[in-house]
Amino acid sequence: MTQSITVLGATGSIGKSTLDVILRHPDLYRIFALTANTQVSLMADLCVVHNPEYAVMADPSSAMDLEKKLKSLHSKTKVLSGVDSLCDVSSHSGVDQVMAAIVGAAGLLPTLAAAKSGKRVLLANKEALVMSGEIFMQAIAENNAELLPIDSEHNAIFQSLPAGYDQDIKLKQQIRKILLTASGGPFRGWSKEELSAVTPAQAVKHPNWSMGQKISVDSATLMNKGLELIEACWLFDVKPKQIEVVVHPESVVHSMVQYVDGSVISQMGNPDMRTPIAYGLAWPQRIDSGVGSLDFFQLAQLNFEAPNHEVFPTLNLCSQAFETGGTAPAILNAANEIAVEAFLREQIAFTSISDLIDDALNHCDITKAASLESVLEADKAARQFVKERIKA
Ligand code: NAD
Ligand code: MG
Repeated sequence: MTQSITVLGATGSIGKSTLDVILRHPDLYRIFALTANTQVSLMADLCVVHNPEYAVMADPSSAMDLEKKLKSLHSKTKVLSGVDSLCDVSSHSGVDQVMAAIVGAAGLLPTLAAAKSGKRVLLANKEALVMSGEIFMQAIAENNAELLPIDSEHNAIFQSLPAGYDQDIKLKQQIRKILLTASGGPFRGWSKEELSAVTPAQAVKHPNWSMGQKISVDSATLMNKGLELIEACWLFDVKPKQIEVVVHPESVVHSMVQYVDGSVISQMGNPDMRTPIAYGLAWPQRIDSGVGSLDFFQLAQLNFEAPNHEVFPTLNLCSQAFETGGTAPAILNAANEIAVEAFLREQIAFTSISDLIDDALNHCDITKAASLESVLEADKAARQFVKERIKA
């Protein structure tokens, strides 16, 4: 039986890697829907190759352009637009798996729609989980959805945990620590003074991974690791103090779990997102992902060091936001998204990103994250707050 897949964020870095894996296995997978925001010509190319039933552009005028383009190519793909359509193709009864690879808070509603309709959710969009952890995990549990982490670290942790971990309190108690690895980004070892002058071009140049702009900046500030710490707390039911961030510049050990008997289990591989994507698609089976074998002789050395919290304050901001709970992580995430956009437009300094997040957490009202509405309200208020700060 072929599995029918919706790829949210098909034109992005994760989306394209997902389609690369899927093309290798036409006997196992077919595309039900592809979605994007504004990238019309790339989307048209993808529709020609994958022939999905639906193509959704979040942006309505891009949808009109895509429709014209596909007509001229005699494509049968139906074009839709807007958030409701993103949710529809995520929850449609014809879909088995949803790759959640929209960047940022924009991914929340369609990812949640997939969870609520009991799909296998391949979660790359960490921001959705950070914003609405409790609501999202509840939606997965209540609707018998399957949640497969795609973020390389969480996929590695998932692979390093015993089967049935999530249902078994004894197994949970046998874990001493989760070791969350971080490359350290392009500015590992830099001083605060050096960081204040970095440019967007320097920040998006990641040493090991090729990724979208936003996550590349997040990797440079270590905010990505902080968001991942919150992500791990929700996925694996642990507290920040049970997670240790380990800087590992080679990005070969993708994370580890340390057990009470002293054993450490890790997952390793070349830094290529097609490995965790293939794992999520096929779990519990394994399929060819197109990623080559790790050559240990060429590798020769693996290094590990502690993160510098003074130069990179985002890690502590993230664990504090998780501990505070309620809408604090949604505020943190929204403030980061606005600050990163402003940094990419060269409106603020690199080091102002963490200052603005800190400011938002200190000044925006933190309430219980009782409903999706309260989360979205906190997100909106934090965006407004940070925009005003930047203007001033
Ligand atoms: P990207 O910027 O390359 O792609 C983003 C995708 O989202 C594009 O298809 C874009 O069209 C779509 N999109 C953007 N804004 C949208 C909106 N408002 N509405 C609907 N769609 C929108 O990003 P990426 O690097 O592929 O990352 C995607 C997600 O995966 C992020 O949450 C990121 O943190 C996570 N992730 C990425 C990697 C990686 O290696 N790239 C690794 C781990 C996790
Ligand atoms: Mg990651």
